Amino acid sequence: VCRNRIEKDSLMTRILAMFVVGLLTIPATQLRAEIQISSEHLDAELGFCFEQIPLPAVNDAGSRATWTMISGQRDDNGARIAALNDGRVPANEDQPRSNFFFRAGTAGGRILADLGKANSIKRISSYSRHVGDRAPQVYTVYGSNGDIDVSKLSPNSSEPLDPGQWQRIAAIDTRPTTGESGGTYGVSITSSQSSVGPFRYLLFLVEPTEKRDPFGLTFFSEIDIVTDDDPDLNFVSAGTPLNLIKSQTSDKRYQFQINVTEAPELKEWSQKELLPVMNEWYPRIVEMLPSDGYQAATKVRLQYRNDMAEGIPASASGAKISLNAPWFRKHLNDEAKGCVVHELVHVVQDYWRPRPDGAKSAEVPGWFIEGLADYIRWFKFEPQSRGAELSSRQLAKARYDASYRVSAHFIDWVVRTYDQDLVKTLNAAARNGKYSDSLWELSTRKRINDLAEEWRKGE
Ligand SMILES: [Zn+2]
Repeated sequence: VCRNRIEKDSLMTRILAMFVVGLLTIPATQLRAEIQISSEHLDAELGFCFEQIPLPAVNDAGSRATWTMISGQRDDNGARIAALNDGRVPANEDQPRSNFFFRAGTAGGRILADLGKANSIKRISSYSRHVGDRAPQVYTVYGSNGDIDVSKLSPNSSEPLDPGQWQRIAAIDTRPTTGESGGTYGVSITSSQSSVGPFRYLLFLVEPTEKRDPFGLTFFSEIDIVTDDDPDLNFVSAGTPLNLIKSQTSDKRYQFQINVTEAPELKEWSQKELLPVMNEWYPRIVEMLPSDGYQAATKVRLQYRNDMAEGIPASASGAKISLNAPWFRKHLNDEAKGCVVHELVHVVQDYWRPRPDGAKSAEVPGWFIEGLADYIRWFKFEPQSRGAELSSRQLAKARYDASYRVSAHFIDWVVRTYDQDLVKTLNAAARNGKYSDSLWELSTRKRINDLAEEWRKGE
């Protein structure tokens, strides 16, 4: 069942490659088969509910093929290569163990599928799913029906393939030109004629989707090879329909979506209590944390999850926030809203985004990131709860870099005592990759350690 479709980017059908089959003496109509490539990019929560790309099959020829990694290194955090043809797909967009991917920081590698004998291939489909840059697919696939000594295939990824043995079928690149790259991708490679070719071997040359950081190696969930010999195909289940609630700010500038599929009993509270807080506070947080030319995410997605580690109430990644459903069930009347406000600050901070100039950013210390999020939460959003108060005994021993509430307390004290604009200044520097503890001195004319000394005395 594929309901609740909310977004479908870039459905592309491209005719990418033409290849010539046979000799020139054969009439032209039989000469050419056009390879047709279509791909779909879905919002990650939609799973594999494609509109045109078939669902991953469980009994295609690919499921019976022998899959080998010819070059490159598998990432130990991911699944073994068998994940590519096990007929199973990840249940959400952050399941490394359900995807095969090459090791972080590497240049990718080559994957061989051996069908055992030459087969007329009707379709090749590849599926991937991730929250960010590891979702799109960049690879070239070659086919061969010749006798190949697999043990002699070069483990060197940069070695060119022997054109006498390998025929280039298609080059795939599903990276979106605009917008978020995270989500689910499905690719289908077919032919204008009935067959992509009679091949025994398919070789996939996989490349990273980006090299700004080590994490550009695609999370491949499944690769299907459908041949004329295949039985009627059975497909994976598309998953349960999603339960989503949405809202937007009154000026329509910011949109919010909460996925309550895993916690339907939290739907009413989320609708009545949480969304109004977000509508009001997200634009305020954006206003509190400006920097030149910066546009905060306009679409923020939240999802209740039952599979998060016990000690983590919530976490933010880009403009997505995961909410620990069991924790929320217990804290609706005390910490729940403040916790979401804290995560919204992380969304707006956005310190982890790639810099436009590609320059490497100065690291922003964790205590400042968390301290600022807690500062806005405890001192702006819910000062009445007095959640970050320190007794004079606690204060006397406090460290400014103790993170969370303690650092929030320190930030609040410095703002009130020395510089109303401190938060804006430090946030802009952090976002622009230029944070340094020395900026505190620039703002207050006191070194951070001296500020901390005064703060501890409760002056
Ligand atoms: Zn945090």
